[in-house]
Amino acid sequence: MADIFDKIIEGEIPSYKVYEDADVLAFLDISQVTPGHTLLVPKKHVDNIFDYDDETAQKVLLTLPKLARAIRKTNPKITGMNISSNNGESAGQTVMHSHWHLIPRFDDDHLNETLVPTIDHSADYDDARYQELADQIKKALS
Ligand code: 5GP
Repeated sequence: MADIFDKIIEGEIPSYKVYEDADVLAFLDISQVTPGHTLLVPKKHVDNIFDYDDETAQKVLLTLPKLARAIRKTNPKITGMNISSNNGESAGQTVMHSHWHLIPRFDDDHLNETLVPTIDHSADYDDARYQELADQIKKALS
């Protein structure tokens, strides 16, 4: 059965895409734990890291640093980044299509790392703000 990220990949559900090639897609996480919070997913459906073949691992891991640098470039106040992936329900995975969180960090964000995956700021964002962030990252990648 298609999961929500399969539907985003297929364009059946809208998303704020920041990068796409034949193998991977990156788009803004709806929750925006911090501004610029992005998800990177392999297009090939794999539930989690335990199902990765070498090609999937290569494509995803080669994209992560490029994406991280591009996100950082969008805002001089970004001084760090949490990159993480929850694998399995016991690890907090809620969407069963492998994904990597890139969560920009700011000197004064006062985030408690252990709470990062449960934070949801989507109520503070409207279409224009999501699009602005996505456009900034796309531009930084070009
Ligand atoms: P997990 O908890 O599995 O590590 O992360 C799932 C992430 O997917 C959450 O951070 C959540 O905000 C995000 N998410 C869930 N549904 C959607 C959606 O429809 N669109 C987008 N862009 N993100 C979503």
